Amino acid sequence: MNSNGLTQETHPDKPWILFESKKKQDMGELPPDSFSSKISSSNFMELESTGTPSSQDYEQATSLISDLSSKKVTKAESLYSKDSLKFCRRLAPSFLKLLQTKRSLFVDSFLESTVEILKKQGQILEASIANEEELKVFIRDRIDAVWRGFARDLCCSQNKKISKITKKSWDAVFTYDGFWEALIEEEMELSNKFISKETSALQVMGRLLKKMIFFVNRGMVITFLFLFKAQDYEFREGIKTFDNYLVLSLVPEVFDYYNHKRGVFVDRCCRACKVCKSKGVNEMVLLTIQKAQQNVANFNALLFNMQISPKIELPFNPLSILHFFSVQDIEFLRETM
Ligand SMILES: [Zn+2]
Repeated sequence: MNSNGLTQETHPDKPWILFESKKKQDMGELPPDSFSSKISSSNFMELESTGTPSSQDYEQATSLISDLSSKKVTKAESLYSKDSLKFCRRLAPSFLKLLQTKRSLFVDSFLESTVEILKKQGQILEASIANEEELKVFIRDRIDAVWRGFARDLCCSQNKKISKITKKSWDAVFTYDGFWEALIEEEMELSNKFISKETSALQVMGRLLKKMIFFVNRGMVITFLFLFKAQDYEFREGIKTFDNYLVLSLVPEVFDYYNHKRGVFVDRCCRACKVCKSKGVNEMVLLTIQKAQQNVANFNALLFNMQISPKIELPFNPLSILHFFSVQDIEFLRETM
């Protein structure tokens, strides 16, 4: 126990703990529109005063704010500022290695499901897949190309000033738009993978393939992260904020509301830093963060219910994972067609 009556285990290495714990308590009691600097100052009042705040209280609060935003927070910032790069620099090579594994049942299960979905849709539109094996290779190569680009962006030799992962890089592997931005020149090839008398059927199949390639990428990398990497001690070692990156990978919409240096989302941050003060931060953002965290719990529950063995060699049916992501797309109002 420290002087604030909080246990060290609950809040390791967080010098701003008094502020944070007080704030969390307040967040539970106040309406959602309480996310403002005005309320944040009143938190400090409550910490220091026993009645109507006096000018002395304001002085104390001001000095507490400046104290928090200077040396204490600076010391804490250095703890997490490298986590995003560590996370990505470990994820990129391990996922690329998985993709390039000749006979990975994990990868094959996803590719097989994708082909089945496209075949079923093709039957409705009277279109067929020109060559199923070639299509699987094509899908795998597209995903591989995006991840190679991502890995290149993380290299110091390519990107000397890199200190944390950028939103653009993150989006390339975790969002539909970012992914296809990285592959824009390939888009025209998509409808050529199908045979039909109707040009419109080919176009629809091309669009569906576009969606499915990203879906299979997302399904694979997120399952890989949640099922294998989350339990991999070596992978997680030195990345204290690992769980936050699970949230960011599953719901990349919250990327702008995460303070990488402090290792917290804005709902638990200072309300005074650049991230907290950014334009888009409002009560909707707090709800989205909450929803994102709930999605992590839901996805873990899904994997648990599927009883997938953490042994990567075993085949499994990824349809419920792909289904989870289509439901998520609706929930987060994502445009993916
Ligand atoms: Zn902040």
